[in-house]
Formats: sequence, C-alpha cells, structure tokens
Amino acid sequence: MAGKKRIVIVGAGPGGLTAGMILTHRGLDVTVVERLERPGGRNGPLVFDGFSFDIGPTFLMMKHILDKMFALAGHSSEDYLKFTRLSPMYRLHYEDRHLDVHDEDERMRAELARAFPGEERGLQPFMDRERKRFAYLWPCFEKDYSSFTRYFSRDFISAIPHFAIGRSVIDVLGDSFTDERAKLAFTFQAKYLGMSPWVCPGAFAIIAFFEHELGIYHVEGGLSRISEAMAEVVRRNGGSIRLSTEAKRVLFKGRRAVGVELADGTRLMADAVVLNADFGHAMTRLLPKGVAPYPSAKLKRKKYSCSTFMLYLGLDKDYGLPHHNIVFAKGYQKNVDAVFEGGVTEDDVSFYVRNASASDRTVSPPGKSQLYVLVPVPNRMVGRQDWKTLTPRLREKVLAQMEGRLGLKGLSEHIVAERMITPQQWEEDYNVFVGATFNLAHSLDQMLSLRPHNRLEKVKGVYIVGGGTHPGSGLPTIYESGRISADLLCEDLGVPVKG
Ligand SMILES: Cc1cc2nc3c(=O)[nH]c(=O)nc-3n(C[C@H](O)[C@H](O)[C@H](O)COP(=O)(O)OP(=O)(O)OC[C@H]3O[C@@H](n4cnc5c(N)ncnc54)[C@H](O)[C@@H]3O)c2cc1C
Repeated sequence: MAGKKRIVIVGAGPGGLTAGMILTHRGLDVTVVERLERPGGRNGPLVFDGFSFDIGPTFLMMKHILDKMFALAGHSSEDYLKFTRLSPMYRLHYEDRHLDVHDEDERMRAELARAFPGEERGLQPFMDRERKRFAYLWPCFEKDYSSFTRYFSRDFISAIPHFAIGRSVIDVLGDSFTDERAKLAFTFQAKYLGMSPWVCPGAFAIIAFFEHELGIYHVEGGLSRISEAMAEVVRRNGGSIRLSTEAKRVLFKGRRAVGVELADGTRLMADAVVLNADFGHAMTRLLPKGVAPYPSAKLKRKKYSCSTFMLYLGLDKDYGLPHHNIVFAKGYQKNVDAVFEGGVTEDDVSFYVRNASASDRTVSPPGKSQLYVLVPVPNRMVGRQDWKTLTPRLREKVLAQMEGRLGLKGLSEHIVAERMITPQQWEEDYNVFVGATFNLAHSLDQMLSLRPHNRLEKVKGVYIVGGGTHPGSGLPTIYESGRISADLLCEDLGVPVKG
C-alpha cells in the first residue's frame, strides 16, 4: 500500500459504502470504520428469532442509480442482488376505499377511474409535466456546488423556473387532480423526506413521477442486502471495513484533517477523511469546537425531518397484505400538522406497513410472516414526548388501528417476535441527531448549494456523504452524495477519475 493515498471513512451506511466502493476502485487505500457490528447503518438488517427485518429503507427507487454506483466501482449489482419490480407498487388505504398504485399507465388509469372516477384524466398531464421538470431538475441534483461557476451553470439557470418556487407538492398536484384523495396518491411521497405534503417544495412532485416512470424494487432478503453487497465490493476492491469500531474525533493539523482517532485511542492517519455519521452528530461530536463549520447553535437553527416510531412484528400467520401499504389517518392533514408541531395524534395516526412476505419467503421462518410498521412522529427538537411512558400506549393504539383499518383480526395474539425503535433510540442507539430519521429537511433554503456541502467548508480534507449533505436523504440521492464526494476528493488529491 506504500505510496497510495490513505482515506478513512467514518460510517458504513449507504453514503460511506458508496464512497468506499468508488474510491477503492480508483486505487486509494480505504479503511471504513463502523461503530455497529454490521454494515448498513439505518439500511442494515435487524435479525431476531429467525426473522430478518430491514431497519429502515424498504423502497428502492431509481434502481439505475444503484447500478451506476456498482459500475463506477467496477462491478455489476445484478451479480450480487436479486431485484423484483413490484406490481402494484403499493396500496393506499383511505377511510372508505383503497387505491392500488401501478407503474403501468393503463392499469393506473383504470384504478384511478375505479376509486376516484374522473381523476384518471389527470394522470397523463401529470406525467408529461413532471417528466419535463425532472429533465431540468435532476442534473442539478447530480452536480456539486463547490464553486461559484459550478453553481451558476447554464443547466442550473434554465432549471430555476421548474423549481415551483413558493408552491408545495399539494399545490402542484392541484394542476392535475381535483379530488384531495387523488392528490394524496401523488404527494404522500413527501413523507419519504420526512416532510408534510403541504410544506414540501413543489419540485418534489418528481418523486411520484419517477416512481411511476421507473418503478419500485424489492431486493431478495431485504434492502439491507444492498449494504452487505456494497461492503463486499469495498473488500473485494482491496478496502478494509472495521466493524464495532467507533470514531471519537477527526484529527487536524491546523485546519487540515490528518486522520481519525478511535474510541480506544488508536489513531488512523489519512490524507482525507469522509464522514458518513449522521450530519448533526458528526458536526457536534466528531469535529473539534472552533473547527466545526456547523457548531450546535447553527445546527439548532436548521430545519429537520420528522422522526419515526417503529414496530417490527414477527407473526405466526400471513395475513396476505400487499407488499407496501400506506394508511392515511382519517384527519390526515391534522395528523401531519401535529407531527411537525411536536404532537402525536394517538387515536388517529397515519402509518406504513410493509409485508415483505408478500414477495419474499426468505425473510421469515417457514409458515410465518413479518410486518414492518412505521409511524411518523415528531423529532426530538420539536417533540417533548416522554417515550418511556408513551411507547407501550402508542404500540397498543397502533396495533388496534392496524386491526381496524387493515382488517388484521386478532393481530396481537399472532405476534411471536417483536422489536421497537423510538425517536429516543434513534438518537441514543443510532447516533441520529435529534432523532430526525430522514436528516435535514428538504426546504428550498436547505437544498442544492444551500445544503451542507459535500466538501466541508472552512477546513481541508473533510468530505460529507449521506442524507445530511447534497443532494438529499433518500437512497438514490445518498448514493449520489457518495459519488460526488468521491469525485471531489479525487480532484483534490490529483487522483484520476475512472468512468
Ligand atoms: C425508518 C426509515 C425508513 C426509510 N425508508 C427509506 C426508503 O424506503 N427508501 C429510501 O430511499 N430511503 C429511506 N430512508 C432514508 C435513508 O435512505 C436511510 O436512512 C439511509 O440509511 C441513510 O443513509 P446514510 O448513509 O445517510 O446514514 P446511515 O445509514 O445512518 O449510516 C451512517 C453510519 O455511520 C455510523 N456511525 C455513526 N457515528 C459513528 C462513529 N462515531 N464511528 C463510526 N461509525 C459511526 C452509523 O452506525 C451508521 O452505520 C429511510 C430511513 C429510515 C430511518
């Protein structure tokens, strides 16, 4: 390894692993340190009593971006992972009806006509408008904002009219649909960013577009398999991943990063450091005071996504639910507003249920099935809940609403294995700043060049990857953050960038 540039990556989440795969392929000497005993971070597995759950991500969108990252690392994702394109993509449960959402236009139009007669006429105009918006906006998500000229490039300037400035996704969908429930089918995706559809910038109407255009995928064994495959690529490319190894702080000489000190006192010297630990956590815990460009006071002024209350249920039967289910609270807007104002509407919550067993028999023991339940709740900056007392109560109420809204009769009696994660645990056990599981909010004032930069400003040799930097907090954008930061790092160290 003599002569090779040394890189330490803190965190083996999707961001750190993407950077690791690419940098090892470019010949750098990469060490990834990960505090947990397995790779993946929030995109890791939760294995207990014979069941294997995904901790976090369950929707793989824009699969071609994942494929691109494997290709940039000299591998093919298909050699490691078995993908299934889901049909229908998901079922939406309203108070008095449901809608199966398909990525084939004909089937989607028919389903809209069945559930919301007349609204099927909005589908084509929506797809046409958002296809155009996507073509203008996506290049802005792919590039870095490390200099004035890259910022004010021609593609950025021509994209400005397509940002729908001053309009929310709900406003934008009003151009295509009239029924509020039909609009929800194309705007609830704001929740992927941990935001309210009534606040989320209209530009994000492209999320529903690319679901319909490109589909949603499941990976056999769960989406955590993606992280395991990425870790394997890092190792095969010659990198090393040190699990159960916590970084304590980044070491500096002046304002230049020179390595990382581990919790056991070991020092790993490096030419550059990549931080994948949750952004707020990294800024407050891993960078020395006086050096961190985002001290606590500045971080407190930022806006954050909501948090999530999670239930992972192993069952002794299979209720036959579709793969992805989104259940809207009867008072959906009231429920969403409450979450962002710091409250929990316990008797009328919105929730998401994933029945992986619908498409994958490998994740549960024979004859059994599993349900992954996600309830959006306030993050710990706005919410003052005492999770010790709220947890058992909320669990009971959510199970009762699952029984009622999804027809899961006798659900409680069929639970044979169970785990939960509360906002407090996201913060304390997973190092997620203020328990905001989807990181910094995606308001216009926290996007593109206004989001924390991939090459950290005011210091040298520190690069950020993951949901807290540009372009954002879903898997495809996190993969792009790993690629963008890897390119910047190579540019700074004079390492040729391979195609
Ligand atoms: C419940 C939930 C559901 C989600 N669903 C989806 C979905 O369906 N689709 C989608 O695209 N996205 C989804 N996301 C969003 C996002 O894709 C994931 O959260 C993703 O895992 C974030 O990746 P990351 O690289 O930013 O951070 P992380 O996955 O959190 O990785 C950071 C890593 O850094 C490690 N670390 C932290 N501090 C240290 C330290 N001091 N030393 C060493 N290691 C450290 C952590 O242990 C962790 O492994 C979801 C998120 C959550 C929480």
